[in-house]
Amino acid sequence: MLPNLGYIFMKKYTKVFVVGAGMFGSVVAERIANDSGIPVTVLDKRAHIGGNCWSEICPVTGIEYHKYGSHIFHTSDAVVYEYISKFMSLNSYRHTVYTTYQGRVYSMPINLDTINTYYGVNLGPEEARKFIAGEIDRDTIADPQNLEDKAVSLIGRPLYEAFIKGYTQKQWECPPRELPAYIITRLPVRYSYNNRYFSDTYEGVPVEGYAHFFHSLLKNYRISLCLNTNFSLSDEIEDDTLIVFTGPIDEYFSHRLGRLEWRTLDFEYDILDTQDYQGTAVMNYADVETKYTRVHEFKHYHPERPPVPSTLICREYSRYAGAGDTPYYPINTEKNQALYKAYRELAAAQQGVVFGGRLGSYKYLDMDDAVKAALVCYDQEIKPRLAKR
Ligand code: UDP
Repeated sequence: MLPNLGYIFMKKYTKVFVVGAGMFGSVVAERIANDSGIPVTVLDKRAHIGGNCWSEICPVTGIEYHKYGSHIFHTSDAVVYEYISKFMSLNSYRHTVYTTYQGRVYSMPINLDTINTYYGVNLGPEEARKFIAGEIDRDTIADPQNLEDKAVSLIGRPLYEAFIKGYTQKQWECPPRELPAYIITRLPVRYSYNNRYFSDTYEGVPVEGYAHFFHSLLKNYRISLCLNTNFSLSDEIEDDTLIVFTGPIDEYFSHRLGRLEWRTLDFEYDILDTQDYQGTAVMNYADVETKYTRVHEFKHYHPERPPVPSTLICREYSRYAGAGDTPYYPINTEKNQALYKAYRELAAAQQGVVFGGRLGSYKYLDMDDAVKAALVCYDQEIKPRLAKR
């Protein structure tokens, strides 16, 4: 595939390219322009910057919605927080999630309220700890190696069957016994009434929205932005050219070793003539019979904004990503990990190209992980290379 004219034009003037204007690419571009003082061209095949973190204002309701599902910024890393604070302020939103199981609503992640409501008891923290230890002991799992065993060894089988099994099957379309244990360790289990989804020091949603945050990151006369632009190499990379590639690593090599597998998401939107549909930003649905995994109601992310009379909701469905679908979650099977390793070897031999980001590293990165990885990549790999030019 030949690059489009915008790309050919830019190539004449810039020697540093960032492919992908998502979190990783935007942070790297900001550093190259502001810290190294070097012109950089950022290409993205989409019509907007920000990758999957992008948000827009719904023209009908005036509500800002996260186009690729809910994104809440959270971190305990002071360096990351200090960095992003130069470009945005976080509001006071604290993420809480509820889950509907067999027609009843429970608190997530599993905490004292979930345990007491599910079992119809009224236990204090220590009593609940002992009670759940008893539930866990009913199964003998010495060394949990998969998601099911890990979950059962953390919360016991009844809570696993109610809140994890069905949701996980819908999310991954495969039995939880075939999934890696680490997926479930993203969720804490608490023996208190603390129902915050995240346990990080800093949390919130950009006061002025994600679009404003990404525009601030990329606001520099040294940064040229080419949207709606596919990247492909028409010839050898010249010695003084540097490419930071944040797209799928297998795509860079034209899938020559095979395709890395991803899960994608479909979103079904509805504008409802009501002030508040579900009373919270995210409601999970634990039963397999409900086809969607969760419902987002975006207005709850900005309690500081003036109220609007209607609401915008979106049902989220998970499925296997075909060619052309937006990749969201890497499917971390042994086969995919081996394929990724083989692509890394090709990447290591590729002169003048640095690979990074969620798609480039085939890793599910939270936003703060992506910022951190970009800052480290800039300091350790990009900056020294640019200094040598
Ligand atoms: N999960 C679950 N029930 C829930 C929420 C999460 O079983 O109500 C499991 C599921 O396997 C999911 C994993 O926990 O893939 C991680 O959930 P998280 O909310 O961190 O996923 P994300 O919001 O990143 O999609």
